[in-house]
Amino acid sequence: STDKERANSVAKIKVVVRKRPLNKKEIAKKEEDIITIDSNALTVHERKLKVDLTEYIEKHEFVFDAVLNEDVSNNKVYSETVEPIVPLIFQRTKATCFAYGQTGSGKTYTMQPLPLKASQDILKLMHHTYWNQGFQLFVSFFEIYGGKLFDLLNDRKKLCMREDGKQQVCIVGLQEYKVSNVETIKDLIEKGNATRSTGTTGANEESSRSHAILQLCIKRSADGTESKPARVVGKLSFIDLAGSERGADTTDNDKQTRIEGAEINKSLLALKECIRALDNDQGHIPFRGSKLTEVLRDSFVGDSRTVMISCISPSSGSCEHTLNTLRYADRVK
Ligand code: ADP
Ligand code: MG
Repeated sequence: STDKERANSVAKIKVVVRKRPLNKKEIAKKEEDIITIDSNALTVHERKLKVDLTEYIEKHEFVFDAVLNEDVSNNKVYSETVEPIVPLIFQRTKATCFAYGQTGSGKTYTMQPLPLKASQDILKLMHHTYWNQGFQLFVSFFEIYGGKLFDLLNDRKKLCMREDGKQQVCIVGLQEYKVSNVETIKDLIEKGNATRSTGTTGANEESSRSHAILQLCIKRSADGTESKPARVVGKLSFIDLAGSERGADTTDNDKQTRIEGAEINKSLLALKECIRALDNDQGHIPFRGSKLTEVLRDSFVGDSRTVMISCISPSSGSCEHTLNTLRYADRVK
């Protein structure tokens, strides 16, 4: 069928890099833009010193499915990443979109508009192609912090995860809001983001240590009406990952910071392994490596799609973190 053909034409895994512009602080510090982009290839120009202290530039080249430069709009990011996947979730696909990168690289800036645009398109499809077929859209939003789950749409209520034996993940007590218009979705996303950043030590500091997971879930009752209980058809998850540099906080003086760092490190490694296993079509996918991958378990089995958006700063001061991010993305690809 044409639906099937269309589904098959959307890559199972797509890895995209987005470079942000230099910010005021970096410009003030006279930091330079060390990233050049040529179509889907990217080069990092790393300044190094020889033993005699003369300078040279080491070039690191990478190729990805797409590389988006600092002029690319959020609309273009959406059309490059999530837009092609949206129709598939009406056909039982589960899809996940990740934003990866160091704190300040643009993960939240990139991720925030995506669920809103996606739900606009989902509602459009429900009102046209799938009009009167009993489809319903639900939104939930939670975070993983230090290996624990908190509901961002319900005052950070602590949640537990349970498996139902049929490889479906159930997060007990998670608030799911049925939504039928974009305004409500916008309010929920804003509410969740505000809840997320209300930390004790400052907004970006706190949020950089947690993974925020926003899920759009399409359900439908067996007879296509709303009279019977609805069952999950497809799911689209948006994950604003913890700052990748936080995984290195494992030698910090503060014990809590060390524990969190170890958890972040574990989850980012487990995520990489799971995506690689997906790509190799291995039967066994190592979900159990971390809370993050356990929670996403049902999104990695069956007809799944994964988009990884790796966010990078252009500045010379971030060279090492940028190389780490690109190497991670390169392993996932
Ligand atoms: P992160 O979530 O990775 O810590 P943010 O998304 O908060 O980073 O981005 C850090 C800052 O840079 C924010 O002020 C944000 O508005 C700005 N920024 C990030 N990406 C872009 C971009 N592509 N264009 C313009 N400004 C950006
Ligand atoms: Mg952020």
